[in-house]
Amino acid sequence: MKTINCSTCTALCCRLEVRLIDDSDEQVPIELTEQVEGLYYAMKREKDGWCKALNRETMLCSIYEKRPYLCREYKVGDYDCINERNKHLL
Ligand code: SF4
Ligand code: SF4
Repeated sequence: MKTINCSTCTALCCRLEVRLIDDSDEQVPIELTEQVEGLYYAMKREKDGWCKALNRETMLCSIYEKRPYLCREYKVGDYDCINERNKHLL
């Protein structure tokens, strides 16, 4: 089986909705967040789905040290990672 590697997949997981669910998410720059349907806060996204915090030249997170809890917990090779790769790389 081929090893899954972030360097070959252009931050596909950064197109998923990222909700702000943890106290530590207060560190995320507020201008990159938005309230969704008056219910919860999430990272703002561009029209094409990618997170506003993604540097589109490097395809790296521009707020890496202050990224949300869910991004810090996200693991290469987890269900969502495989699912996104299958959706976009096939
Ligand atoms: S975690 Fe998975 S989907 Fe996200 S960049 Fe890495 S390989 Fe791609
Ligand atoms: S905050 Fe950073 S790691 Fe999280 S989805 Fe946005 S660009 Fe990706």
